[in-house]
Amino acid sequence: MVVDDDPQVLAAVRRDLRSRYRQEYTVVSAGSGAEALDAARELKSRGDALAMVLSDQRMPGMLGGELLARSRDVYPLARRVLLTAYTDIEAAIKAINEAHVDYYLAKPWDPPEERLFPVIDELLADWQAQSLPEAKGLRLVGHQWATRSHAIKDFLQSNLVPYRWLDVERDPEAKTLLEAAGVTPEELPALFFEDGAVLRDPEPRAVAERLGKSLSASHDVYDLVAVGAGPAGLAAAVYGASEGLRTLLLDGHAPGGQAGSSSRIENYLGFPTGVSGSELTRRALMQAQRLGAEFLAPLEVTGLSVDGGYKRLKLGDGRELVTKTMLVATGMAYREHPAAGVPEHTGGGVYYGAATTEAPAFAGRRVVVVGGGNSAGQGAMYLARYAKDVQIVIRRADLKATMSQYLIDQIAKTDNIRLRPLTELAGVDGDGRVERVTLRSVQDGSCRTEDVEAVFVFIGTRPRTDWLPADVIRDAKGFVLTGRDAMAAEGFSKIWKQQRAPLPLETSVPGVFAAGDVRAGAMNRVASAVGEGSMVVRLAHEYLALT
Ligand SMILES: Cc1cc2nc3c(=O)[nH]c(=O)nc-3n(C[C@H](O)[C@H](O)[C@H](O)COP(=O)(O)OP(=O)(O)OC[C@H]3O[C@@H](n4cnc5c(N)ncnc54)[C@H](O)[C@@H]3O)c2cc1C
Repeated sequence: MVVDDDPQVLAAVRRDLRSRYRQEYTVVSAGSGAEALDAARELKSRGDALAMVLSDQRMPGMLGGELLARSRDVYPLARRVLLTAYTDIEAAIKAINEAHVDYYLAKPWDPPEERLFPVIDELLADWQAQSLPEAKGLRLVGHQWATRSHAIKDFLQSNLVPYRWLDVERDPEAKTLLEAAGVTPEELPALFFEDGAVLRDPEPRAVAERLGKSLSASHDVYDLVAVGAGPAGLAAAVYGASEGLRTLLLDGHAPGGQAGSSSRIENYLGFPTGVSGSELTRRALMQAQRLGAEFLAPLEVTGLSVDGGYKRLKLGDGRELVTKTMLVATGMAYREHPAAGVPEHTGGGVYYGAATTEAPAFAGRRVVVVGGGNSAGQGAMYLARYAKDVQIVIRRADLKATMSQYLIDQIAKTDNIRLRPLTELAGVDGDGRVERVTLRSVQDGSCRTEDVEAVFVFIGTRPRTDWLPADVIRDAKGFVLTGRDAMAAEGFSKIWKQQRAPLPLETSVPGVFAAGDVRAGAMNRVASAVGEGSMVVRLAHEYLALT
């Protein structure tokens, strides 16, 4: 949909867009914000999908930024583009902050082949990756409160597979599908494929196989294997493949790591309007594969042994992989929250991260976010789009020391988010689902019970290093030591038999590198994980030249 009060500009955008996209899309135009919102509601009532709203900023009645913000209520997934004059950068920045626009285009956009189409192509590809025409594609039927349902939802979402979730208790279509296929309640969750095939209560691996994902390595020996496909592993795969190393990337769950679960990363260089974790992951993985890296998931690495210059990786399915160099990029995972009732409800009302996966299921409901870091802030902002009431529970008096100011400001402006300072989660309770939480004051220990339907936990992380042998020296908390830190560690000289010192990101085992959040002293940022992952490729070349 194109919106502009200036008939000439409107006609020009419309002409350019139609010249390129008319085979797949219809271009609808409107002369004002109000007209555009009416047209969007009309499209919605007809059941049509809307891919993009492109609006001029300066319009009488309603500014473009406001229109784009309001269009979210009607079509939350549509991409939003603001058209501004070069001199209007202020307006564009305001709209990015307040209306969450996906892109701003400066007028004029000639030649469109260079300045308009590449942007629109990318935004349409993003939209297509997230949206699925109703009634088509993959459908997952299950109970909202079942751990197994959450596991498959999380698997599909993290692996960037579009699907439609149908709650058996709420969705009439779910019942029809189950009856037609003869699926019993004990067999839920059930995954319905477009070709009529059904998987009953599947394991993620079976889903991956049915989706045609490769789970077998195509070579016997690699130059570089990156274990963990978060930002660090993805960056290593991009640089490894582009610099001529035979590179394999694998992940026990899905690509993206912690960053993949972020609803909006606003501080990664080069994305002025922010980028969702899933979008960054989709692009990075495509880039790595296009350059020649191989990617396998879900495939967990369970052990490592060193055999001369070769590293043997033990895989969760019993097989083995051999590589000359490897990167430990297994990042961090949330630690279980100690409050009573949490284990029984995990995956069924208590979720670790997972705001983007579960938020739509809590539309109009009350939820709690536990934690005061940036991940909690992003989670709360995303949940607030759907939930009626979002409470952020933190032990500190405020968010200043733990959250970036841009998120604190966004939260302050969001009416349905409330901060509960000096408070901790003491218990979760409910009959087969979360119905109540007990919140305890950290000042006087007094408790209050409140009705909420979900708890999203964003605190307590631990490095994922249990699979590494003792020779890979770690600190007391389990983070991997590299370079000089490894050299200074107790027991280093017993393990390290080289004449040289370890390279900067090299661990106490020659040719085994570590990067990103798993490394002692890491910065816990997407950019630093990407930087370290990229550096490892250069260091791997250096190591290979030495051997
Ligand atoms: C919700 C959220 C929001 C965030 N927002 C921001 C932000 O806005 N800006 C910012 O800079 N940072 C942000 N961060 C932090 C950032 O995401 C991390 O610093 C970054 O993801 C670390 O990357 P990594 O590659 O080191 O590890 P991770 O992202 O933790 O990835 C590790 C990967 O290894 C895999 N793995 C683990 N063990 C194994 C095994 N044995 N075998 C195979 N695979 C394994 C995991 O499945 C995972 O995919 C956010 C984090 C979270 C959780």
